[in-house]
Amino acid sequence: MKILVIEDEKKLASYLQKGLNSEGFVVDVAHNGIDGLHLATEGHYELIILDGMLPDLDGLGVLAALRQTMNIPVLMLTARSMVEDRVKGLQAGADDYLTKPFAFSELVARVHALARRAQGQQQNATVDSSHLGLADLELDAVKRQAKRAGQDLRLTAKEFSLLWLLLRRKGEVLSRTELAELVWDMHFDSETNVVDVAVRRLRSKMDEPFNLPLLHTVRGMGYVLELRAGESQP
Ligand code: CA
Repeated sequence: MKILVIEDEKKLASYLQKGLNSEGFVVDVAHNGIDGLHLATEGHYELIILDGMLPDLDGLGVLAALRQTMNIPVLMLTARSMVEDRVKGLQAGADDYLTKPFAFSELVARVHALARRAQGQQQNATVDSSHLGLADLELDAVKRQAKRAGQDLRLTAKEFSLLWLLLRRKGEVLSRTELAELVWDMHFDSETNVVDVAVRRLRSKMDEPFNLPLLHTVRGMGYVLELRAGESQP
């Protein structure tokens, strides 16, 4: 498990790094808020230990910036035992906090607890999105298999990704731009024709042979996968 420690007190930072290393964690250290934020967004960490008082950008600033894009567990360290700091930290999205000075064993216990909680959530998320369904449409992300009325739809990899995304966000209109970004990693409006072509192919496999269309065009907006009452193809 990879942990990022953002702490400007170098002695404490290196003490935490060595201690956590000996507990089997891989640890990187940043000594100010800006470096910390940069590493946090680039480094694929599973947990961040974040000091509250930091140069350049303080802990709450780092946390606020992180929370705009990431759901990574954050353990905040605060030098003061003031309740307001604790409350502010938790309100800003910290998952737990420790007041300095703290015993190393206490820190390790909190780190393990947060890691367990995060892993549990991840497992739930995987279970939730690996088997998706709508009406008689079923999708198994592990087997990469999509079925309708029990028949294998034989989708290409891209068609499968597209259907998986639409199904995960069923009932929500997804724009061509959004689909192009999320499925093809393309960022230009001009290339969204690719989306229309793929949707047409997907439809010919998953909707046209069956009575009930599930993939709908919302004119001028995009596509939505949903069950519409009373609608059926002749
Ligand atoms: Ca500090």
